[in-house]
Amino acid sequence: MPNLMLTNWCNYKCPYCFGIDFMAPKIAKKNMSQETFCNIVAWLLKTPEYNAIHLMGGEPTLHPNFEWMVEYLLARDFRITVFSNLATNQAQGYAEKLADLPVAWVVNINPPNTWNNAQKEKIMSALQALKQRATITFNVMPDDDDNNWAIELINECNLNRCIKVGFVLPTVTGANYYLNDEQYEVVAEKVVRLALDAEKENIRLEYECGVPTCIFSEEQLGILWDTGSVFNSACCSRLDITPDGECIYCLPLATKNAVHFSEFSAYPEIKHWFETKLRPYRRLGRTENCPNCNLMRPDSCNGGCLAKILLNAKNV
Ligand code: SF4
Ligand code: SF4
Repeated sequence: MPNLMLTNWCNYKCPYCFGIDFMAPKIAKKNMSQETFCNIVAWLLKTPEYNAIHLMGGEPTLHPNFEWMVEYLLARDFRITVFSNLATNQAQGYAEKLADLPVAWVVNINPPNTWNNAQKEKIMSALQALKQRATITFNVMPDDDDNNWAIELINECNLNRCIKVGFVLPTVTGANYYLNDEQYEVVAEKVVRLALDAEKENIRLEYECGVPTCIFSEEQLGILWDTGSVFNSACCSRLDITPDGECIYCLPLATKNAVHFSEFSAYPEIKHWFETKLRPYRRLGRTENCPNCNLMRPDSCNGGCLAKILLNAKNV
């Protein structure tokens, strides 16, 4: 089931943001209208077996009808995950009101040493309200000394004992800050160190999409396995639906293909349409080994981030 982009704007301006091509200020600020939202929900209800939905942005808590949208989905038995930075004026109030409801939160956290006082107050009070409903996610950066602040934050706020680790991925236009190939190995080493430290606190790691399996050595994959932080990442996205109802594969590929959700009778068909369109480009692979690699499958590595592959293949 898709990610609904309730807004295309955000209170943060992170240099690594891979939404940069499809969000304000590059394009006009938009909130999903109530009519578009209800039409998408009615369309999704045609496949009730897929009832998990992600609410994202931009920053979804900036949408003026955010609470109403959550209640609308809960009344129709959707399993909701909200992707938020929790640093908005509204986030603490929503966190307190929704903390007892079956809503999971994935919270994108920049390192606490980058927060100003106002951000600190908002993020900490919202996390303390959400407790184990909140899972933190962040990009491991090549120049950060260590990421143990994440472990301390989980302990201090009694959050879900899991960290979702991301590697900074590019948009296909290369407009954001992203990792080059040499930095992947530096980051892989830091991830392994974090997994070892996290294990001591009974915290495991999960991974965002697009991290190529072969950037880890076999020894490193073994350590991740031993720490319970079993590595798993693939380029096989839940589709995103923009505030206008346009469906995209993911934000990094947003400038390549978009089609209105209403042109397809149900979600599985539009997903199939995207996978069929992208399949020929997957063959390019991240490395010359990809075509013969047994991880070149949608449920496995799938060659790493396709946006990065296309960015590197300038003649495509
Ligand atoms: S191209 Fe694949 S890996 Fe990259 S962001 Fe999109 S879904 Fe994730
Ligand atoms: S599919 Fe390609 S990028 Fe992924 S592990 Fe195999 S060789 Fe590496």
